[in-house]
Amino acid sequence: MKRNWIYFPFAGLVAVALLVWVAKQAFKSGERPPVEKPIEPPAPKVGSVPSPSAAPAVELHRFPGVIGPTNVSHIPPPPPTDWRRYSSGGTNRLAILLTEPDSAWLGLAHGLRTIGVPFVLTTNTAHALTHRVVLVYPQLSGAVLAAPELRALAAHPRTGGTLIAANVLGGGLEGIFGFAQAVPSKAHYEIGFPTQHPLTAGFTHPRERVIRVAEPKNPAAIAGTHHYTQPAVPPLAIYEDGSAAILLRPWEAGYACALGFDPGYLLLLGHNNREEGIARAYVNQFEPSLDVLLRLFKELYRAAAPAPVTLGTVPFGRQLPVLITHDVDYNRSLTNALAYAEFEASVGVRATYFTQVKYLRDFNDTAFFNDTAPPILQRLRALGHELASHTVCHSKVFSRFPLGTGTECYPDYQPFVRTPILTIGGSVLGELRASKFLLEKFGGQEIVSFRPGHLSNPYALPQALVATGYRHSSSVTANDSLTHLPFQLNHDRARAAETPVFEFPVTIEDEEQPPLGQRVQAALDVARELARYGGLMNVLIHPDITGHKLQFERDFVAALKPVAWFGTVNDFASWWAARNEVAVDVEVSANFAVVSLLVPQPLNGLTLQVPAGWRLQSFEPAGLKVTPADAGLVLDQVPPQARLVFRR
Ligand SMILES: [Zn+2]
Repeated sequence: MKRNWIYFPFAGLVAVALLVWVAKQAFKSGERPPVEKPIEPPAPKVGSVPSPSAAPAVELHRFPGVIGPTNVSHIPPPPPTDWRRYSSGGTNRLAILLTEPDSAWLGLAHGLRTIGVPFVLTTNTAHALTHRVVLVYPQLSGAVLAAPELRALAAHPRTGGTLIAANVLGGGLEGIFGFAQAVPSKAHYEIGFPTQHPLTAGFTHPRERVIRVAEPKNPAAIAGTHHYTQPAVPPLAIYEDGSAAILLRPWEAGYACALGFDPGYLLLLGHNNREEGIARAYVNQFEPSLDVLLRLFKELYRAAAPAPVTLGTVPFGRQLPVLITHDVDYNRSLTNALAYAEFEASVGVRATYFTQVKYLRDFNDTAFFNDTAPPILQRLRALGHELASHTVCHSKVFSRFPLGTGTECYPDYQPFVRTPILTIGGSVLGELRASKFLLEKFGGQEIVSFRPGHLSNPYALPQALVATGYRHSSSVTANDSLTHLPFQLNHDRARAAETPVFEFPVTIEDEEQPPLGQRVQAALDVARELARYGGLMNVLIHPDITGHKLQFERDFVAALKPVAWFGTVNDFASWWAARNEVAVDVEVSANFAVVSLLVPQPLNGLTLQVPAGWRLQSFEPAGLKVTPADAGLVLDQVPPQARLVFRR
């Protein structure tokens, strides 16, 4: 097919000069800008602006007869997520007694789903107390609970229950938790676990022993932090000044546990990518601050629930999930991608190719999404890999693009990157729509995963992804999200309304120094930490070159193949979304525990974590395949309902 360049008229000498300059820049662009946070430009005219009358000439690759998409993308105003969505389930679950529905409970709910602890939300104290393990959130005080409720909660640890509470601010329960006073402070930024305790024994890395909860230079940014004075037993966790952050007082068969902070708020800071300055790294390192909190909840639940059964985070009970992801965003990358793809197929690894659909020439590069692209896309697909979107124009200021109309289509949609901080004519919906349309047209595969250029992350991205038919996002780094676990995204990256899209953050990238080929051991070191709790290893390799980057991948895959599960973003994300809807309930009798599973979506390779010493006696349906693995029991091809009977 012959290239068809379209020339648009331009006006005035200024535009001519600009065009010459832009063209020079385009030819110079041998290297891609790094995958850094978008530059925050000082000038007011940033982001994407409509085409001015003096727009430079646009050179566009036209695929004859190809126009689309023809549908309209619509973003309805979201109904706030009702806490009752999380209100059903049996008494073996953790009960969250919600004392203020206008709080960050959605972050807590998403976090517990992620770590695999079954829970229910309730606003009814009597109902909560039918559960052995109760978490009062976001505060426990006389301001939010009546005196009889406070008395009933106080009795819970004395009668075999476990009472966990965030921000114990009164109500006369100081003695139960074992402190004199809760003192508000806006100076705290770190929480450390100084003592040897079975619940925190798994926190062995220095970044697990001490986690970040605020920016050291700006600790006041965190809301609702307290410390507890005169602890009756040595605190489980302390702030950087030694004051008590988490109290854990043993009672009868359980505990009274007081947190001096709001865990839902912290989870939302990370999940919403609003952690500014808290994380100790941007990428390539181990930053488990939120994971430590979630694992602490899981350990507490396992220690205190009558029959704790939790869900593993890795398909088929493997030690960690590994996603090999490629950003194809440079004129030589499409061809180089084949070298990676052939290698991956030869070792049975399916990877994800986030491909920039660059049909316009601009400041960044040539219009490399041209007639050479379709055969390469088809080969990638034939090798078993996932095709995914990496935008049309790969703008550094994508995060500031207007939302768009939802009618953008190829070839009329023409975002033009003029400088690193100025793109003309781009929109969030336009980037999503036009790239998905062309990749589907020429790749022959439904496009469901998205990653922005430079991980430039608009607030409207979650709902824009939903509106344009995407299901999975990989748009942030793990370090910048304070977690190595996937999480569910909220509308506007805020706290009121969840979307069905999950985020799979980037763990390792290839543009920091030293060169990737020299970082195999460093990446494996991070993988080793993640394997201890099933954290996600999402590796981003640009196929701009082969050489040391391809060698890295060969060495990395060889080292992890024996222990890791490998798959595409869509493979893992589909598994994750199905796992997210699994309901686990347990009925116990003297010698037996009956585990009931409701699995509304098809799911293969679910891992059930049951207490040591449980012996599987029988299960239904009879054809269910149950296999022991390191991390628990693996269920193949899980039916919509299953029942497992254990002797305990
Ligand atoms: Zn890129």
